[in-house]
Amino acid sequence: MAGRLAYDLIKCTGCRVCELVCSMHHEGKFEPEKARVKVVRVGMPEIPVPVLQKNCDYCKGDPTCVKYCAYGVISYSEDNPKEQRGMDDAQACKIAEDWLKGVMESRTGVWKD
Ligand code: SF4
Ligand code: SF4
Repeated sequence: MAGRLAYDLIKCTGCRVCELVCSMHHEGKFEPEKARVKVVRVGMPEIPVPVLQKNCDYCKGDPTCVKYCAYGVISYSEDNPKEQRGMDDAQACKIAEDWLKGVMESRTGVWKD
C-alpha cells in the first residue's frame, strides 16, 4: 500500500536540498521552482516549512527527498497522517505557529496567545 510523507519540523534547517533533488529527479536539472515540494518561511523568527505540492508522486514509491534530506526530517510511511498538499502561506503559517506553540509549551509549560 502507498505511504504518505510527513515532516518533522523541529529538524528542518530550511536548506532546500529537498527542492533541488526533487527537481533533478523529475526535470533532470536543479530547478527548485519546478520541485514538487516548496520550502516556505513563515513567522518571526522565520520557521522553514516544507509544503508538498499537488503533483508529488512519491517518486513512484521511492521518495528521493527522503533519501537526501541530511537531517532526517522527511519520512514515508503508511502510518503518517493524511497530508495537506499545496498549502497557501496562511495554512503554512498556522502549522508553524502550532509547532512553535508546542515547543514553547514543552520547554516552559506556558504559552501566551
Ligand atoms: S526538509 Fe530536509 S532537505 Fe528539505 S529544507 Fe528541511 S532540512 Fe533541508
Ligand atoms: S517524494 Fe519525490 S516527487 Fe514528492 S516531493 Fe519528494 S522528491 Fe519530489
